[in-house]
Amino acid sequence: MDTYARYPLELVRGRDVWVWDSHGRRYLDCVAGIAVNALGHSDGALRRALARQLGRLQHVSNLYRIPEQEQLAALIRARSCFDRVFFCNSGAEANEAAIKLARKHGHQVRGIAQPLILTAQASFHGRTLAAVTATGQPKYHQGFEPMVQGFRYFPYNDIAAFEALLTTCEASGPQVAAVLLEPLQGEGGVIPGDPAFFARVRELCDAHQVLLIFDEVQIGVGRSGQLWGYQQLGVEPDAITLAKGLGGGFPIGALAVKAQADHFRPGDHASTFGGNPMACRAGLTVLEQIERRDLLPHVQRMGTQLQQQLAALVARHPAQLEGVRGWGLLQGLVLRAESGLSAPELVKAALAEGLLLVPAGPSVVRFVPPLVIQPRHLRRAVASLERALRTLVD
Ligand SMILES: *Cc1c(COP(=O)(O)O)cnc(C)c1O
Repeated sequence: MDTYARYPLELVRGRDVWVWDSHGRRYLDCVAGIAVNALGHSDGALRRALARQLGRLQHVSNLYRIPEQEQLAALIRARSCFDRVFFCNSGAEANEAAIKLARKHGHQVRGIAQPLILTAQASFHGRTLAAVTATGQPKYHQGFEPMVQGFRYFPYNDIAAFEALLTTCEASGPQVAAVLLEPLQGEGGVIPGDPAFFARVRELCDAHQVLLIFDEVQIGVGRSGQLWGYQQLGVEPDAITLAKGLGGGFPIGALAVKAQADHFRPGDHASTFGGNPMACRAGLTVLEQIERRDLLPHVQRMGTQLQQQLAALVARHPAQLEGVRGWGLLQGLVLRAESGLSAPELVKAALAEGLLLVPAGPSVVRFVPPLVIQPRHLRRAVASLERALRTLVD
């Protein structure tokens, strides 16, 4: 179906940070399948692990115990503040699980008949009906009304507005089950969370027995330079959702929760494919490789270099570029509104220069390369982007 406005490009092969189109042309991939291919394309360790798994066992369903699933859950538990994990297949599906968990918390812990979930404006939580309702962007709702009940929105990083909404909702007794937030808003324009805002949200959630859930579908699994996005903010949520980078290109999603926030009982939630041996082998391999290759300090170094080079680019083109922001290897180059340049336009021009980038809204160009990217690739990416910019303004 005609659901995507695609670039006129057919990709047929990938290796490391490079992809090739059907005409044999090579591109430097700073999209990585939208923050998915953490280890790059056709990574040897991931290829061998998945080939071995494919030869042993592919899928059995959650009617039975799955050792790879238990191992991946144990590894997430050992490396995070969470105790229990539910596996599914995508980010939207992980958020659906979180929304159901939040509602159960509202009913059981707070005794709310119609629990509310508070989310941020300009957020992105996926395209299924509840996840898209949680998404605080009206453009994603239009044409699909009626939306799911029980969501309220507030401006991101705005303490006063959040407190006012919470106070209004709770004026005549408990109404709010959870707050769902991205630690850094990705699709909404690469907007990092403010630690002071998040610390206050944590305090208020504790005071009201409201669950604090982070959507780490894009920022989680090492992309920020920390394994988890919440570590950037110094705030522990009660649960996080994961997907994109976790499988390194193999579809997998997850909801990880602290023990006291785990309200699911057998029969409450399920997924046929969720946590199958292939997906969990992929997740295990990605997490193992992040450790074995010491990728977290690498992402921090590469993130700093990319940010510095983009800041220098901004300084060379002050009429077109406004600034750069982000964490680790999720960086956004912000275009000046007065320049008349749009992010989709610049992304298209970069494509012609052999560089893959993705917009995050109308005025931000997003860099989400494989976590294994090297300094020479970053220099080349910024040089290609500068050539693309010149073709648009000269
Ligand atoms: C991509 C994304 C989602 C949706 O993930 P899908 O796998 O496309 O369903 C949800 N939340 C955030 C923060 C995302 O970046």
